[in-house]
Amino acid sequence: MGCFLAAGKKMSRTYKIVFYAAALGAFVFVFQGPLSGLVREAANKYLPCSEPIKYSLGTFDSRFGISQQDFLKAVSEASGIWEKASGKNLFEYDPNGALKINLIYDQRQQATVELQKLGISVSNDKASYDKLKAKYASLLTEYNKEKADLQKKVSDFQAQKDAYEQEVNKWNSQGGAPEADYERLNQEKTALDRQVADINKAQDSLNSTAKAVNALATTINQLVVNLNARVDKINSVGQQTDSEFEEGNYQSGPNGEEIDIYQFDNNAKLVRVLAHEFGHSLGLAHVSDPKAIMYYLNNGTNETPTAADMAELDAKCKIKQ
Ligand SMILES: [Zn+2]
Repeated sequence: MGCFLAAGKKMSRTYKIVFYAAALGAFVFVFQGPLSGLVREAANKYLPCSEPIKYSLGTFDSRFGISQQDFLKAVSEASGIWEKASGKNLFEYDPNGALKINLIYDQRQQATVELQKLGISVSNDKASYDKLKAKYASLLTEYNKEKADLQKKVSDFQAQKDAYEQEVNKWNSQGGAPEADYERLNQEKTALDRQVADINKAQDSLNSTAKAVNALATTINQLVVNLNARVDKINSVGQQTDSEFEEGNYQSGPNGEEIDIYQFDNNAKLVRVLAHEFGHSLGLAHVSDPKAIMYYLNNGTNETPTAADMAELDAKCKIKQ
């Protein structure tokens, strides 16, 4: 006697290997002048920095893991840096303030969080670059091994699944399989299901390794730019999106003034990038002192303006009488 077998299990999941590409983290400020806020600018032309800039919260993405209250506290701290330095009331929070401050979440903060998970915080120096590169090399080795293992698992599975289906079809065409074969084929099917679960797990693991590799790759490549190092860029795995480097941006145009914040590692960095962009909103340009708030990289840890910052502030706000 024989039992009729169902056709080989149709696999509902695909085994295509999918890579998530993390984009660049960011440490470079971008200055997109010139200022608008024409009315304020006109007033400030005669009495520089006499009219406070009214700011409000624009886009706010909770994925940064910071509350609006804490974010506004950082904003207030940042504006206070210039106010204290100048002795002037330069900024004011106003729910309808024309200068919108946006917290925008994209691949930049994603890459930052990926690196935080690896216990890595990045600074703009050669030591950080070397450390990241060593970590990248070991992770890439791990990634390639995981990938080869997964590919082998998938091809083994395919071969076994094909053999299983072939046999099932053979018995089905004969009207069914003898009981012993039926039992054996059922066990094979259970084993195949286990392989599927195993493959999915391996794929998840590979994807998370890919994310880490990509976060490192993009951050390293950004350091290459920041440090102007004579070193090669490295490759990320899988697809890579075009990425921007900036952690913050100030812009003004016909639609008003905006400060966009894209990335920060911790509160001190957040305050600094906000202070930097606030500086641009006052008309301050970049200065060449690497420790300055108005340096193009968020390098320093000081939250007080350096002499170079002060000279730039004085040039725009005429704080020395
Ligand atoms: Zn800048």
